[in-house]
Amino acid sequence: MYSKRFEKEQFKADVKDNVRTLYRRTIDEATPQQIFQAVSYAVKEAVIDDWLATQETYKKEDPKTVYYMSMEFLMGRALGNNLINMSAYKEVKEALDEMGIDLNAIEDQEPDPALGNGGLGRLAACFLDSLATLGYAAYGCGIRYHYGMFKQKIENGYQIETPDNWLKEGYPFELRRDEYAREVRFGGNIRIEYDENEKRNKFIQENYESVLAIPYDMPIVGYGNHVVNTLRIWDAQAITEFKLDSFDRGEYHKAIEQENLAKNIVEVLYPNDNHYAGKELRLKQQYFFISASLQQMLWKYKERHDDVRKLYEKVAIQMNDTHPTVAVGELMRLLIDEEGLNWDEAWDVTTKTVAYTNHTIMAEALEKWPIDLFSRLLPRVYQIIQEIDRRFIEKVRQMYPGDEGKVKRMAILMDGQVKMAHLAIVAGFSVNGVAKLHTEILKHQELRDFYEMMPDKFNNKTNGITQRRFLLHGNQLLADWVTSHIGEGWITDLSQMEKLKALADNPKALAEFMDIKYKNKERLAAYILEHNGVEVDPRSIFDVQVKRLHEYKRQLLNILHVMYLYNQIKEHPEMPFYPRTFIFGAKASAGYVRAKQIIKLINSVADVVNNDRSINGKLKIVFIEDYRVSIAEHIFAAADVSEQISTASKEASGTGNMKFMLNGAPTLGTMDGANVEIVEEVGLENAFIFGLSSDEVINYENKGGYNPQDIYFNDWDVKRVVDQLMDGTYSGGDHDMFRDLYNSLLNTQCSSRPDMYFILKDFRAYAEAQKRVEEAYRDTQRWAKIALMNTASCGKFTSDRTIQEYVDEIWKLDKVTVKVEE
Ligand SMILES: *Cc1c(COP(=O)(O)O)cnc(C)c1O
Repeated sequence: MYSKRFEKEQFKADVKDNVRTLYRRTIDEATPQQIFQAVSYAVKEAVIDDWLATQETYKKEDPKTVYYMSMEFLMGRALGNNLINMSAYKEVKEALDEMGIDLNAIEDQEPDPALGNGGLGRLAACFLDSLATLGYAAYGCGIRYHYGMFKQKIENGYQIETPDNWLKEGYPFELRRDEYAREVRFGGNIRIEYDENEKRNKFIQENYESVLAIPYDMPIVGYGNHVVNTLRIWDAQAITEFKLDSFDRGEYHKAIEQENLAKNIVEVLYPNDNHYAGKELRLKQQYFFISASLQQMLWKYKERHDDVRKLYEKVAIQMNDTHPTVAVGELMRLLIDEEGLNWDEAWDVTTKTVAYTNHTIMAEALEKWPIDLFSRLLPRVYQIIQEIDRRFIEKVRQMYPGDEGKVKRMAILMDGQVKMAHLAIVAGFSVNGVAKLHTEILKHQELRDFYEMMPDKFNNKTNGITQRRFLLHGNQLLADWVTSHIGEGWITDLSQMEKLKALADNPKALAEFMDIKYKNKERLAAYILEHNGVEVDPRSIFDVQVKRLHEYKRQLLNILHVMYLYNQIKEHPEMPFYPRTFIFGAKASAGYVRAKQIIKLINSVADVVNNDRSINGKLKIVFIEDYRVSIAEHIFAAADVSEQISTASKEASGTGNMKFMLNGAPTLGTMDGANVEIVEEVGLENAFIFGLSSDEVINYENKGGYNPQDIYFNDWDVKRVVDQLMDGTYSGGDHDMFRDLYNSLLNTQCSSRPDMYFILKDFRAYAEAQKRVEEAYRDTQRWAKIALMNTASCGKFTSDRTIQEYVDEIWKLDKVTVKVEE
């Protein structure tokens, strides 16, 4: 609409031209993939105009810039989102329609760039969308993994991982920038040499291996404002191509090693969510993208500024979890060794530039690198961290004389390990949690010592999601309906959704709202029929749990409850029961055995229940294969119930919960993470809350847990479903298939703490909350109001709000307006 590029006839001509020049074919001869490429190149053309205009504006106005450092960016598909944000979706859809091409089918040709695991990576993607939309200068910095998150296949009920070769066909929305390549060095030793001229020691890395980091830029299109920021992801290339002398000197082996290092380093994303594995290659990945990004950042800063001591006036660096924390040591190294600052100057700059976001309190997720590995791989950065640690401990001893317990608890280097969270907190000028409850737990439990010593650093930034992708793109029917009632202001100001509350008692509006939900459920039902071969009734309650598979997220509680319902229906066929469809979607980390058993259990229960004709289809269970952003958009739109049932205190925030709420699905959940704030916004009467509180969980944990046998032997329904894990009901008579799950719940011999995640403890409360859901759903009017109130109350959970808080309270960025000739 605003750009002549999307004038219909011109766009059609561009697509035809592109098919011709790229493939020497006509539209009729082109494959859907070729048309996707041709359409994407036409869109990219328009994006590049705004991209250049944005760079020009930044050059002129020199705004402060945030570098968002993240090992993961879970972007999802770009084509549809770029069209939405350029306000060109409908025009392009029409243009393609006239050519006999279905835009949806073309969108489906795009691979999901899945350069992330789950919530943490998706948060980074939502943040980039909001930064561009709000007009702030920002770079996302990450890694161009050649293989992103694995593709999940379900075979015989088991998860099978297959490689995600997302670059196979060539990705149209990236731009290789050879001119910005940087060298990154690993290993070797440090020689100290006194420089007579500069009158100071020089630290010289010798016998190192190195790789060349090559950036690929992806445009991040703001909504309707011509701002296009950059996601810069780094690829690796062997440097030997440029230094053939190592062959001359017969160092053939070294050349090959460097070749392999380059090949391995960006090969694959580690598929662990909320879990630290301690792999050397992972640390290499971290240093690789951090060093390249910081070198690039400093170079760009120095283009226009001559005093690096004032870097923090123009640059903020946000570390998304501890994964990028090596940035602290690397920035110090660059400032001291390359820029010639002394220690105090470099420390002043670093501690005014870097900030840290904490994403988890779970022990198994804490990054602690063995010192021998760390110092061997990054000898100079390690020296610097030693000095940071020495000075910090001195300060702790000054503040708390005689308290050596504190020193042990707070040190960065302790017990042969580098504690990355401690380094991030000591160096960061800001430490934030990602939901109110999470930040309170950080301050008063996990990071108490640090909070006491430096309370001013700690702050909360409750997570958010972008409504552009998760409503405007994912649920076009509801988006149009909302716009017809309150105008389109909500697209960039989600607080306006509140205006919908005026419709909460309007029967016609409620009927329309639920009719849209029904249509979205039909769309998902068709997908399920095609992919699972299971017929589900869109009139049944769509009860959905989609997220990474993790014990703390308690998919096991959900499926045990389904087993309980099945027992109930079988035993009391006359019992009133509102038909239910339980929908799961989840990837388990490839090495997470117990998580994979839970997937097998879900599929096994589905097999038995879905094929039991005697229950008249009252209960259906569906496991959607390969849960990812593109399918997620459709699932949220079709959900009636949002399952957010993590063990209280374990889910830092959650963002899936917010996407469901936006799409009118009430939360069935514990008082955990951002669920607490969702209830604050929507009201207890529009949610279904159950279970232990985080305080109760933490109290039990401090006492060494609870005894699940007390429940097992006293609640006959619980005993029955737990026993069904062992009696062959869901395993074709195999008594061992789910033995480990049984043991995890009950057996003190097999688990360090039986039922660590309080599944049996919360079972009854969960079943009762599910009863309340059913009761509410039977009352069509009441349910419609609950659903509408969720959409109407979701304003707080836009990532636009989150980003504005980061900007105001942490980054202090300048707002920019990009003007282009229309
Ligand atoms: C939002 C999202 C997540 C995070 O879900 P949670 O329920 O918050 O864990 C994970 N994966 C995808 C694809 C998402 O879109």
